[in-house]
Amino acid sequence: MTNDTPQLYIVATPIGNRADFSARAIETLKNVDLIACEDSRTSANLLENYGIKTKLSSYHKFNEKQRTNEFLKLLKDNKKIALISDAGTPCISDPGRVLVNELFGDVKITSIPGACAVITFLSMIPRNTEEFAFAGFLPRVKNQQAKVFEKFINLDTVFYESPNRLIETLENIKETRGEQAKVAVGRELTKVFEEVKAGSVTEIIDYYKTHTLKGEIVCMLYARENTEEQDSDIIEKIKKLKTLNYPDKDISAILSTLYGYKKNKVYKLALDL
Ligand code: SAM
Repeated sequence: MTNDTPQLYIVATPIGNRADFSARAIETLKNVDLIACEDSRTSANLLENYGIKTKLSSYHKFNEKQRTNEFLKLLKDNKKIALISDAGTPCISDPGRVLVNELFGDVKITSIPGACAVITFLSMIPRNTEEFAFAGFLPRVKNQQAKVFEKFINLDTVFYESPNRLIETLENIKETRGEQAKVAVGRELTKVFEEVKAGSVTEIIDYYKTHTLKGEIVCMLYARENTEEQDSDIIEKIKKLKTLNYPDKDISAILSTLYGYKKNKVYKLALDL
């Protein structure tokens, strides 16, 4: 790429507290030729507040393909474009992926980092490991949700949730992972009524029976800790694969790949069965 390569800026905006808008983000948005945004009414309000007068163009999941072609033409004419979403970092459970996927390689893409609910949340809750999974918005159907929890059973799993569905989701966690499964909830992060809670899923459900449950929510289901519980789960899976005549070596490879279990551990359990 040369200095003349067209440039697309992915710009993070605040997730609540407007003071979290970075100086670089504001400067960039003032200097580009066009800002692609999800909802121009939502963005106009924020941008006006910072004296950003750049032209807006709506970009959302229903027109992203068409807009991508239009933006590519403008970029090739040396116009500078910035992408923002309603709040936080574009492409993180927000539109933008089609644009990045289509333009990557042809266009220089720069990210102006800033607020992101999942990262803000992870930085303020107790955790024992660096590893985590991010599931975005969970599927609404109960057994599909359970599949997500199963897939990331050995990882702290963060997801976005609406206040109307949080209790239902927590009840589902209780049912699939037990009463003592550990969860954390972050509500209204960076805003006046910011609240963060961590505890067993039962404690958190009880808490929200008597406390306000409104606003924006990010939630985490902690990785399963109980090794006894994990062993019995692995044994169940080994038994199923043994009935299909898989050799122990293949069983340990399959289960470690699919579920992140330690290969040796699965192999030893398989040998003992
Ligand atoms: N791109 C955004 C980001 O970087 O975090 C996320 C966009 S997604 C459409 C919106 C969801 O993020 C909300 O429904 C909520 O689950 C979560 N979220 C956004 N702002 C939040 C906040 N201030 N506190 C807690 N969760 C928030």
